[in-house]
Amino acid sequence: MGKGAGSTEQFVLAQYQPPLPLDQIILQEGSEGAGDRMELDVLIVGAGPAGLACAIELARLAKADGTELNIGVLEKAEALGEHALSGAVVNPRAFRELFPDLKDSDFPFRAPVGKEAVYLLTAGGKWRLPTPPSMRNHGNYIASLCEIVRWLGSKAEGLGVNLFTGFPAAQLLVRDSGVVGVRTAPAGLDRAGKPTPGGTPPNDLVAKVTALAEGTRGLLAQAWCQWQKVPSENPQIFALGVKELWETKQPLDRIIHTLGWPLPTDAFGGSFVYPLEPNLVALGLVVGLDYRDVGLDVHVLLQRFKQHPLLKPLLAGGEMVEWGAKTIPEGGFYSLPERRSGNGVLLLGDAAGFVDVPSLKGIHYAMQSGIFAARAIFQNLKSGASLAEYDRQVDASYVRADLYRTRNMRLAFRDGFYLGGLQAGLMTLTGGRFPGGKYRMHADAEVPRRSSAAEPPVAGAVSKVDAVFKSGNSTRDTIPSHLIAAQDVPGDVARFYSHMCPAGVYEATENGLRINAPNCVDCKATDVLGPRWTPREGGSGPKYKRM
Ligand SMILES: Cc1cc2nc3c(=O)[nH]c(=O)nc-3n(C[C@H](O)[C@H](O)[C@H](O)COP(=O)(O)OP(=O)(O)OC[C@H]3O[C@@H](n4cnc5c(N)ncnc54)[C@H](O)[C@@H]3O)c2cc1C
Ligand code: SF4
Repeated sequence: MGKGAGSTEQFVLAQYQPPLPLDQIILQEGSEGAGDRMELDVLIVGAGPAGLACAIELARLAKADGTELNIGVLEKAEALGEHALSGAVVNPRAFRELFPDLKDSDFPFRAPVGKEAVYLLTAGGKWRLPTPPSMRNHGNYIASLCEIVRWLGSKAEGLGVNLFTGFPAAQLLVRDSGVVGVRTAPAGLDRAGKPTPGGTPPNDLVAKVTALAEGTRGLLAQAWCQWQKVPSENPQIFALGVKELWETKQPLDRIIHTLGWPLPTDAFGGSFVYPLEPNLVALGLVVGLDYRDVGLDVHVLLQRFKQHPLLKPLLAGGEMVEWGAKTIPEGGFYSLPERRSGNGVLLLGDAAGFVDVPSLKGIHYAMQSGIFAARAIFQNLKSGASLAEYDRQVDASYVRADLYRTRNMRLAFRDGFYLGGLQAGLMTLTGGRFPGGKYRMHADAEVPRRSSAAEPPVAGAVSKVDAVFKSGNSTRDTIPSHLIAAQDVPGDVARFYSHMCPAGVYEATENGLRINAPNCVDCKATDVLGPRWTPREGGSGPKYKRM
């Protein structure tokens, strides 16, 4: 067990992580405590690309068939897109399938990818690398996920889909082994969790089919897999991405990816720098949550990254206009749940783990899974066909094929950057066949951590307090904490949390851990490594605009 900064003893975070409160998340249908009850044909949890593509395809199938379908989408953000954060360079493939009558120029993209460059960085230098095939983006488009989500939402509404924003799903309503809907989180509780006069109780939404499209580290998807004992070959693993949007004085004419500095060699990750417009640049740093050092802090590393000679001249005189953070499921093929369908329920997009990490792509896989889910749901409602048809369609598609091709690439980096890079290169050359087999991974919380000093401060850095302000976070100060933490964690563990959380929610004090829950921007890193995250009052959290 770590005793304090400077000690080299190791500890494992899983020992301090409360279990998922399954008894609270899985709720028998008809349980007391709900206000209103609404009946739908199909309920979709999460208005991201996966959930909205599902809603659009389903509404269109129903319309073409002359069938009335009552489709509802629940979203915890107060308005569409406010909890959406991505890079993003988008592969348009799923857009083309969902909107066959539209041209690429009709989609909510900012610009086609033109030039691109990949660099290996050292503290003061850079080497331009040949772009690996998995990172080639010719034919893809630069976009803001917030804008994509708002555009998809308007298409869904145009087809008669009901969008309920500001309503987080907090519990799965079940009957026997089946899912029959969700219960939402209450609003208007005081700090002690007691209802206040203006508050609203939870609502029950029941449906013939519930599609869980909650994105990364989905609470209900996790709970369903545990409850129904749906295994995966490897546990899911995650990375944390911290992102800033900059209005720059200098134009940028290419997308850039970097590897190496400022990450330690035993951490996996890299940066992206994408021009949404020549003078509006999205930049971010993504780091695997299996890093070893207590003092590693992704937010601080991003601040250091901006000081590199590659970035500094670009950002000089510019202004950071938005900030945000989110995790990415990185496990790939071997971390997919054995099935993503069950009695009355489907898992879509990031909630299922459909992300290809070597290419940093998840948006088109999320949308494609939403399209397949809609087709399976429609057949299920029409003729009673099994929802397992969804798994069959995903498994027969490029979604599975792409993830299979890169199945061991991220996992090879558990051995460190250089050995990992060598193996990943050979995997690329052999189409994933070298060295064959399956790399085993530990869950991120099981990885041994070692004490280390905090990252040294960076001159001119954006503080975590300022960063949270720039996320637009408008959480009411007086809501109860939505984070479930163990009592009395050792100092090293408290210090780990304080560096892990990009929003400064955790503070290691002499007496242990102080939790400033309203700062949370729902990145979910805490749920992977530390205190559990649960849904809070609708509309809490960030208000991203162009992330
Ligand atoms: C830093 C970063 C960079 C990335 N770069 C790229 C890139 O360049 N290209 C690319 O293709 N992919 C990229 N990705 C991945 C991509 O963003 C995701 O794969 C994609 O957004 C997944 O879509 P989704 O619909 O499954 O989930 P999300 O986009 O996360 O949407 C899920 C929605 O569900 C809502 N929700 C969650 N829980 C609840 C609940 N309980 N109740 C109600 N609503 C809920 C959330 O608020 C959210 O709006 C990146 C990701 C990150 C974090
Ligand atoms: S508390 Fe957890 S989910 Fe919230 S911002 Fe911090 S690490 Fe992310």
